[in-house]
Amino acid sequence: MKYIDEFRDGALARNLATAIAAEADPGRTYHLMEFCGGHTHAISRYGIADLLPTSVRMIHGPGCPVCVLPIGRVDLAIELALKQRVILATYGDCLRVPASNGLSLLKAKARGGDVRMVYSPADALKLAQAHPDREVVFFAIGFETTTPPTALVIKEAARLALANFSVVCNHVLTPAAITNILESPEVRQLGTLALDGFIGPAHVSTIIGSQPYEFFAEEYRKPVVIAGFEPLDVMQAILMLVRQINQGRAEVENEFTRAVTREGSVKAQALVSEVFELRRSFEWRGLGEVPYSALRIRQPFAAFDAERRFNLETRSVADNKACECGAILRGVRHPRDCKVFGTLCTPESPIGSCMVSSEGACAAHYSFGRFREIAVVVAVA
Ligand code: SF4
Repeated sequence: MKYIDEFRDGALARNLATAIAAEADPGRTYHLMEFCGGHTHAISRYGIADLLPTSVRMIHGPGCPVCVLPIGRVDLAIELALKQRVILATYGDCLRVPASNGLSLLKAKARGGDVRMVYSPADALKLAQAHPDREVVFFAIGFETTTPPTALVIKEAARLALANFSVVCNHVLTPAAITNILESPEVRQLGTLALDGFIGPAHVSTIIGSQPYEFFAEEYRKPVVIAGFEPLDVMQAILMLVRQINQGRAEVENEFTRAVTREGSVKAQALVSEVFELRRSFEWRGLGEVPYSALRIRQPFAAFDAERRFNLETRSVADNKACECGAILRGVRHPRDCKVFGTLCTPESPIGSCMVSSEGACAAHYSFGRFREIAVVVAVA
């Protein structure tokens, strides 16, 4: 398939691995964060880490939308399904995110809540049209990639004057999260998280463009290379980062030129800013309260804001004590640092959000990492 097969070519991957090994200085360590869960998944799935020299260390970032959803927000969705008796529509991965009291949306469904999995916000809108006698709430999550479709259905609901449709908006912003990590005590004061550069998101960047990352290159002297999600995209981006670091450059480079421009999608940006505005603060799992890091529905569309319609208030709820998701999302821990990884916590029975989505670091390591090989060897022995 065009744009897929040529970016999964094994011979080219070996050439790139050789080039990275040749250019990486064995006398130093390159700490590279892949912000996006899609890249985490690709790195695990295609064994990219195994092709890299030991001097290149990949660090997982917080760019998995399901993973950064805090428990308090999932509790809101469960409250809507169980107490307000709405039809609660959301993406499949959200259904299994652990919430308070051992619940999840899937368990709320088993308790009689009308929870429906949808593939898009448009499906949720169709549900509202098909059930005019029921309140339908779309629980919207995601970074800048999934925000425009949510904006579109809110505008469409307004055009149709749909009185039974609303949205819980959990849309979050990539640049705010990168700033939060760069300003974190682990990076700024303690020096426990070394960061030499970032692999910039693929899909997010098709919307926001490469321009927003220029701030990180200029102000923090951190190189950024935007990369596609195929294995050769990621390896090429690693090579470009190694080169920048070796040459003492801190620039934004775009490996994913087949989809990303400097300006991004101006049309999508205009649509989003028509429907949404910045929240002063929003809680992220792992990062805590992050100022101006998320969106809420603007006043002209307030009728479609489920938080206003149902008078919802978000409570901050601590994660399970055994779970290291918070530290993993901040880049300071690895999934295998967690004592319950692969034992009490598995994709079938997740304790934390990082084990739910295939983009979560724990799920990626469980499904494709060394852990699986060890488990198979143990089982065979
Ligand atoms: S393995 Fe499970 S409990 Fe441990 S950090 Fe990952 S999601 Fe949390």
